[in-house]
Amino acid sequence: MRTQIGIVGAGPAGLLLSHLLHLQGIESVVLEARSRKHIEERVRAGVLEQGTVDLLVDSGVGTRLKHEGLIHHGIELRFNRCGHRINLHELTGGKAITIYAQHEVVKDLVAARLEAGGKIIFDASDVSVHGFDGASPASPATIRFRSEGEVEELHCDYIAGCDGARSVVRKAIGADRSRIARELHDGVVQTLFAVAFRLQLHADEVPKALRTTIQQTTAGIREAINDIQAYVHGLEPSLVMLGGLAASLKQLAVEFESSSGMPVTVELEPNAVAALDGVATDIVQIVREALSNVRRHAQARRVCSRAVSEHL
Ligand SMILES: Cc1cc2nc3c(=O)[nH]c(=O)nc-3n(C[C@H](O)[C@H](O)[C@H](O)COP(=O)(O)OP(=O)(O)OC[C@H]3O[C@@H](n4cnc5c(N)ncnc54)[C@H](O)[C@@H]3O)c2cc1C
Repeated sequence: MRTQIGIVGAGPAGLLLSHLLHLQGIESVVLEARSRKHIEERVRAGVLEQGTVDLLVDSGVGTRLKHEGLIHHGIELRFNRCGHRINLHELTGGKAITIYAQHEVVKDLVAARLEAGGKIIFDASDVSVHGFDGASPASPATIRFRSEGEVEELHCDYIAGCDGARSVVRKAIGADRSRIARELHDGVVQTLFAVAFRLQLHADEVPKALRTTIQQTTAGIREAINDIQAYVHGLEPSLVMLGGLAASLKQLAVEFESSSGMPVTVELEPNAVAALDGVATDIVQIVREALSNVRRHAQARRVCSRAVSEHL
């Protein structure tokens, strides 16, 4: 089987993506682990933000939503038996929230896709993704899955991982990033080290004018090595340490200090750390990228990494 975009997951994200691609003339196939009945009855969200409502209406799947959705223009907070109305509509220049269950959105999107001849494969099990790291006509990006007992392959130009919080696609990308990081470290970096070492070894044997050139060249190679190592560091999926988020952030700071020479202070509010612990892997990755950017671009003299609860 072949398609332009293989989409894993028929939640709101996967279905809406498939619908929007269709409106742009791009073909897709959606693979869903559960049955159609299951996803159309799975109770989850109920509150749709204005942006979501606008997108659904503008893309032609908002008819029922407009009919059946309940619009709320504000909220009321009560203190000491007295109500205080917060008029969100006025405060935001006319925006509102709409109460319309997520599984109703899913029903509308499934109906729209099937009506337009779109393909959704329900009850797909053992889904795995392959070949998305350098897809070529000989080894295209492929989603392998089992449907009605048979192993099937879907070849695609691109794979979209819309398979929720425990995404198999995200995990696969993580594994791929590790492989690229390892290959860069064991291949290119070692070769550059060897070249720089050999040049340095013979620097004293050449005329003075050439010596300066050699020194400048080796300095350039070392800079390139540092850049690649910072890149490799960013590619490796974050390993959250046993001590959880707090220990991992402190460890990142220690590593950054020793490799960059820049002092790092870490300020962690216990409430903030507890609230973020469930997404610790993502947070560690974000902080790692941020530190890498500081090293490359900020020309900073010190760094402060803070987790505070004001926005949580
Ligand atoms: C109780 C609850 C209340 C919520 N309330 C709100 C709210 O009021 N407003 C709001 O905006 N958001 C709310 N949310 C969040 C909202 O439900 C999610 O943001 C939304 O479901 C995310 O959509 P998604 O398509 O990214 O992922 P999902 O809805 O999780 O869909 C992922 C799909 O992928 C499928 N899948 C998973 N693994 C595989 C696999 N290996 N192969 C194939 N298919 C796979 C799953 O079966 C699922 O159908 C709520 C969530 C919950 C749980």
